[in-house]
Amino acid sequence: MISTDHLAAPMLPSMGLLSEAQVRGQDCVFCGAMAAIDLGRQDAKCLDAVVSWFPRACRACAGGGYVDGLIAAACAACRDLPRPEQMLDLYLRLRHEVRRRLPIAQKAVQSADQGTLGWHAHQRIVDAAKDALLEPTGDDPSPLVLAMRCSELGRRLTDLTPYQPESVALTAARAEARRKTPARSQPPRGAPE
Ligand SMILES: [Zn+2]
Repeated sequence: MISTDHLAAPMLPSMGLLSEAQVRGQDCVFCGAMAAIDLGRQDAKCLDAVVSWFPRACRACAGGGYVDGLIAAACAACRDLPRPEQMLDLYLRLRHEVRRRLPIAQKAVQSADQGTLGWHAHQRIVDAAKDALLEPTGDDPSPLVLAMRCSELGRRLTDLTPYQPESVALTAARAEARRKTPARSQPPRGAPE
């Protein structure tokens, strides 16, 4: 089944990069602080099997603070050059977060009066974010190229912070409710776009 709401929730850090306490849900999956909020069941592919796990987040990250951590890591990427698997994880999560906020910024463009200062401000942010998402990395990017892409995505994400998606906790609760009533989550077949 193709998931259409993959952008609804933030992308979690790759399981291989987490501590045991983070995987168990004792510590925040984003920052490692003491966790308080359930993020709902996650299914991860592990070799050929699918394993379910139940990550949790601290209140600050669940309230949107995970984005600050992402931006800080993006700003430091060129200086720190994290390990390749960490860098790739950072890059993918930054892309996901920029793509997740882009539609909200595009709505702001549509609801502003064309040609006004506000309209231009929103439009500039949308255009810059789209450009950053189109930047190619090549098939086998060097750590420095990936670090540069990360820091650019981090700048775009900084601009996109005012465009808030719904909170992590709310998204998790919604996903959980959908899981419990799977029949209702099916889109009507053959419905016109
Ligand atoms: Zn946290």
